[in-house]
This record gives sequence, C-alpha cells and structure tokens, in this order.
Amino acid sequence: MAQHVAQPTATTPVAPAKLPLTAIAPWAVFFGILMLVLLYFVGAEQGATSVISGAEVHEWVHDGRHLLGFPCH
Ligand SMILES: [Zn+2]
Repeated sequence: MAQHVAQPTATTPVAPAKLPLTAIAPWAVFFGILMLVLLYFVGAEQGATSVISGAEVHEWVHDGRHLLGFPCH
C-alpha cells in the first residue's frame, strides 16, 4: 500500500514589499518626538523646571528613572 507523500511545490521566492522612505519618515519623526517627551518626563520632570507642578509625575516614573540611571536622590 503506497502512502501519499506531499511533494514540495516549486514556488518562486517572493520579495517583501518595499516601503518608501517618504512613507516611513513622518512616523519615525512622530515616534521620535514621542520618545523624547517620554524621556523628558522620566528623566528631567522635577523641581523648578517641571511642566506639571507637584511630585505626581516624578513618583509615577520614579522606578524608571532609577532603572535608566538618571540622578534622583
Ligand atoms: Zn529616586
């Protein structure tokens, strides 16, 4: 009794779709600015130059500040 064995089909390799740089650049700039704002709030939002008064933002990102090695206390 012959068993049916699936034979590999011959396929041509498909190249991934190319994304033009002009389509990626606005998103890269957007997320870059977003990351810089996040980095500011984690690393420098404290004291006289703080955007949001009080210590709430500092307390929320306190562990991240220590994790990233920013000076704290
Ligand atoms: Zn601290």
